[in-house]
Parts: sequence; C-alpha cells; structure tokens
Amino acid sequence: MSSNVPFPELSPLPTHLAEAVGSLIHAPHWMGLALHLPLRFEDKVTVTAMDALQVGQKANLVASVVGSDIQYKPRKQLRVWVEDGEVSLVLRWLHFYPGLRDKMPDGARIHISGQIRQGYGTLEIVHPQIRIARPDDNTESGSPIEPGHQPSGVLEPVYPSTGTLKQSDWHRWMKKLPEACFVDTLPNKLIQQHQLLPWNIALQTLHGQAAPSQLFDLNLRTHAAWVRVKVDELLAQQLLLQEYRNQRTQEKAQSLKKAVRKGLVEQFLRSLPFTLTGAQQRAVRDIFEDLKNPYPMQRLLQGDVGSGKTLVAALACIKAVECGHQAALLAPTEVLAEQHVFKLKPLLERVGIRCGKLQGAMKKSEKKATLQALAQGEVDVVIGTHALVQDTVTFKSLALVVVDEQHRFGVAQRLSLIAKAGNGLLAHQLMMSATPIPRTLAQTYLSDLAVSNLDEKPPGRQPIITKLLSQKKREQLVAAIEHEIEKGQQVYWVCPLIEDSETLDLQAAEATYTALIELMPNRRIALLHGKQDSKLKQSTMAAFSAGQVDLLVSTTVIEVGVDVGNASLMVIDQAERFGLAQLHQLRGRVGRGSLQSVCVLLYGSELSQTAKQRLKAMHDSDDGFYLAERDLEIRGPGELLGKRQSGLPSLRYADPLVDKDLLNTARAIAQQMPLDDVNTRRHIQRWTEDTPWWLS
Ligand code: ADP
Ligand code: MG
Repeated sequence: MSSNVPFPELSPLPTHLAEAVGSLIHAPHWMGLALHLPLRFEDKVTVTAMDALQVGQKANLVASVVGSDIQYKPRKQLRVWVEDGEVSLVLRWLHFYPGLRDKMPDGARIHISGQIRQGYGTLEIVHPQIRIARPDDNTESGSPIEPGHQPSGVLEPVYPSTGTLKQSDWHRWMKKLPEACFVDTLPNKLIQQHQLLPWNIALQTLHGQAAPSQLFDLNLRTHAAWVRVKVDELLAQQLLLQEYRNQRTQEKAQSLKKAVRKGLVEQFLRSLPFTLTGAQQRAVRDIFEDLKNPYPMQRLLQGDVGSGKTLVAALACIKAVECGHQAALLAPTEVLAEQHVFKLKPLLERVGIRCGKLQGAMKKSEKKATLQALAQGEVDVVIGTHALVQDTVTFKSLALVVVDEQHRFGVAQRLSLIAKAGNGLLAHQLMMSATPIPRTLAQTYLSDLAVSNLDEKPPGRQPIITKLLSQKKREQLVAAIEHEIEKGQQVYWVCPLIEDSETLDLQAAEATYTALIELMPNRRIALLHGKQDSKLKQSTMAAFSAGQVDLLVSTTVIEVGVDVGNASLMVIDQAERFGLAQLHQLRGRVGRGSLQSVCVLLYGSELSQTAKQRLKAMHDSDDGFYLAERDLEIRGPGELLGKRQSGLPSLRYADPLVDKDLLNTARAIAQQMPLDDVNTRRHIQRWTEDTPWWLS
C-alpha cells in the first residue's frame, strides 16, 4: 500500500476543475475524472443535410416546425411542415394520438428520423420518429451540429452530473484527459487470453468514440468497453484483498496449540445438555485451526438469530483459556453484554473459568477490581461494552477478541482492543453477525475474511408464524396478548424509529405503553427504551427475563441478542418502517425456546412498493440467509453494503449480482498479476485508495 509510484494520471486536477467536479468523481485526480463514465448514450448526431435528401433514403434530420394541420379527407391524418434553410418537408401521420400535434408547435426544433418518400410536390416522411430538441442539446447551443455537415458519427455520452454543470462541460474536460489515463495496466498476454478490449479503446469508446450501431450495447452496458471496465474494477478489488491477506499473515499472534489447562474444551462439551449441530461443529473446527496460526485470525461467524453463535464463541474463548491466555467478548450495548454475562458466566464457571464483566455503568470499586484482575490474569474471560476498549484496560495475556454484532463497531475500536494483546502481538478476532451478508456479496467483498455460516438451527425449534395485520385491526391484538399471558407466556411490543428522532420515538413508545396499560390494567407491563439510565434498563430486562413482566413495550433496543425463551409473541408496530434485516432480527427475539411463537407485523395504510416486498418476504420465510438475498434484490448492493460496511470503495460499474462471470475472470487475472509489479500497483491505485473495514 505504501509504495507511492508517481503515475502521471494520478496527479491532481487543476484547482478550478477539482472544484467544479467536487464529489462527483471518486478521486480528485485525472484518473478519477477518466473513470467518471457516462450514464447513457444518445444518438443525435448523424444528421443528414436537408438539401441532399434522396427518395428511399433513411435520414436523421433536425428542422423547425413551420405549420401543421389535421386533415379528414380522404382520411384522417396529421400533417406537419418542417423547414431548414431553403428546404422543406412534410411529416405525415395516419395514426396518431390526440396530443401529438400540440407537441410540435410552430417554431419548435425537432429531431426527425425516417424514410424519405416522394409526396405531392414535396418530399415527405410517413410516421417518422421525432424527438423535441431539449435546451441542452448541442443543436441549440454550444457547438451546433449543422445539418449538412456530417460530424464524426459518434454517440454522445451523457454523464452523471449536477444542475450547475452542463453536459458540454464534461465533454470538454474529457477531451483533456492526459495520455497516461489510457495506458493499459494489463499485460497483452492476459488481454488476449481473456478476450478483453484494450484499455485505451474501451475508455475512448465510453468517452464518446462509439458508432451509433453500438448504442444498444452501450446503454445496456453489455458492450465490450463496459466489460473491460467492470473486469478492471473487480480486478482492483481482488488485488487489494490479496494484498491485505499478505499483510495480515505478516502480523503476529499467539499460536494456540499447546494446552496448559488440558481438557477444558472437552470438559465443557461434556457439560452441555445437548450436542453441537453440524454447522456448529464445522465452525468450531475452522476456528480452532485458525487459532493455531501464528498470525491473527479474522473470521466472521454468520448465523441466524438462535442458530447458536454464542456457544461457538464460548468455545473459542475456552480454547484461548485452555492454552493459558485470556479472551474478551465485546458487545454493542449494555443490555446485550448483560445477556451474555447472564448466559455465559454460569456455563464457563462450571468448568472453572473465571469470568468478569466490564461496563460503563459499574461502581468505581467494582471496575477497579476487574481492571486489576484482568491485568494480573485472574480473570480468564471478560464480557463488556465499549468500556473494554479504553486505555485503562490491560490484560496479562489477551489472545482472542470476540466481537458481537461487529457492524455496530468502528474499525478503530476493534483495532484498539486486539492491540491489547501486548508484546507487538495482535489478538485473534472472531466477529459475529446475525445479519448474514449474502453469499453473492461475500464472494466479492469478503474474500480476505474467512466466513463460517451457521446455517442449521438447533433441533426442536418450531418455526415462527408470521402474520400481517392492518393497523386498523390493532385492537384485535389485545385478545391475542391476553391469551398468551394467560398461558404464562410473555410478549414483546416493539415501537419503531420515527424520522430518526429519538424524542419522537420515545413519545410514540410512551403513548403506546400508556394505551396498553389502559387496555390491560391487570397485566404487568414495562417500558424499555434507549434514553433510560442503564440501571433501569438492566433491571427491566432482568425482570422480563425472570418472568416478572408480562408485556415489554420497547423501542428497537431489544433488536439484538436479547434472549428470553418464554417470550412467544412479538408485535412489531408500523412494521413498514423497518428494514428487512431489522425485522428479521426483531422477530428472532421470539421462537427461542420450544414454544410455538408468533410474530405480528402491524402495517399502515400507505405502503410503498418496497415496503410491500419486505413484508411479503417476512411473511414467506424466516431463513436469514434467504432474506439477506431478498434484501439484496430489493435494495441493491450499494445500499446494503455501502462503503461504511465494506470499507472497499463500493463497486460503481460491476454488479456482483449480474456480473458473476466477470468476477471469475477478475479472479483468474488477479492470480496472474504479481502484487509488486508496477502495473499491478498502477492498477490498484487507479481504482482505489481505501481499506476494508476489518483492517484499515
Ligand atoms: P445466537 O447467538 O446465534 O442467536 P444462541 O447462541 O444465543 O444463538 O443460541 C440460542 C439458544 O439455543 C440458546 O439458548 C442456546 O443455549 C441454544 N443452543 C445453542 N446450540 C444448541 C444446540 N446445538 N442444541 C440445542 N440448543 C442449542
Ligand atoms: Mg446471540
């Protein structure tokens, strides 16, 4: 990454140009400009001279309307007279829609194409294709395309732009691209082997050197020029990932091979009341293999809610302890950290592992004691929130960091924790996510990250029944809630985010809470939201876990990880306001025990198309991997895995959903390009300057 070869195409743009294009291009150098490629292409340039028209010829014309009428005899028809210079022509429609004549008022400039025929005394075109010239057409301003002069016969690119920049500006700037932008970064041999267009031709084509016959392929982005661009973009990403992989294997970590406290893992497994699922076994085996390496593990453990990730994480921690080291589990919220303590501590203590917790809200003395115990190695596994990341936290020998809901943490936070391994080592890192990244994306974005999928649920789970219910029928729910509570079970009622305002959120949740108390005065109802102090949150959650609360009204603070097996009904209020992944997460709070569970999605009257698709997908499936793929289709990859998530520049031209073959090509080429080669460096730098989230 560090080698800074001064390639001329990476030299900065002149100030005025850099200011003008601003954030429209991906980097403020010439190559950034060169890679600002057209949205679409328009054929409006092959103009035939009006005074050279010949009968039978297919012509493209630009002319002004000078009159029109609708004739009824011998049959109904619309006639429009157009003129350019001395020459005039009749356009004739025998079939036409009522408003067509109004589209061509006198004086309007129009583009016409069609076949020239001999009419009554003048030439004419029957049923021509017409287009009204727009103000930004070159025929109206800038460099006029004069009928009679046949320009180069090229398609005109239309660039992504903003209101203040004209297309003609972009055209002008692209003409100034330095020669260096057109230098190929792929060796000839590879270009031929993969039947790619040379880079200079691809780039020239896209910036306007294409014949009108290519219009279709160019606009569909199937043209060889686009193929070359997409392959290059994917290739840059593959090369970058390869480089990260190399870098990582040069870092050092504890190699967890030698057991100091022998048999700890075995003992733990024997103490469980069940056996691991096949998927859990595979994940554990892979993790243990990774932990043996002398360089840090980077593994993502993906699995649906309830698939048993926590147990896998526990086993990883136990392995670290077995080998004489410490482990830390980092959770995004106090509620979640508390849940982990509640579930894991007894399990770990059963095999003699000393378990501690560290949270912002702890008593000073308690915190101090934990810090000391960690530093002296008297605590083996610590569970905590962001408090773990702080400078005051030191370990005797930290070998493993487990990050729950990794997407909630910034790269810097995770890095500062794994750096606490000390002695120039990094801790191994296991990241957990209940929001699976669709396979299609994982292939492109995560090829440096080992992934374990828990795609098999523990046995005995009943599928959750999902019902859609209109807000208008909200009252019906009271009976259903009463029924569950009568059976001794518990209920969640989740209130949505409103316009990203926490205050409004709260009001909505509080109003619902009050209303439900009025409807069910004899039930134990509690309210949980993010603005409460953490003591109150914890005691509310503890009361709910202990079955002392029948109905928990909450905002989305319960989204992740909260685990109360006795909860069997979940109501999601205004479900249309949630994303698919979030809905699925929330729904996963029920159906965690062996009880038949129900999730009710309350929806409002005005649903957008995508909201309908989301709710339908939720109704149709409770498989997180399936829903992740659906989410990808509904939202598109850009939004789902934006730059923040991937850390790689998001793909602008290639689309992993449709360009799978090109991805394979890019992979094959990446294998054949040495990372230290000057062309490889050049290639990477043209396309990217960023670092993925799991490294930075
Ligand atoms: P996740 O973290 O993936 O949402 P958890 O690890 O919290 O899932 O597991 C959910 C529940 O399933 C827990 O109560 C856990 O004890 C139980 N569980 C985990 N693995 C198994 C298994 N192999 N067989 C039976 N129950 C399991
Ligand atoms: Mg969990």
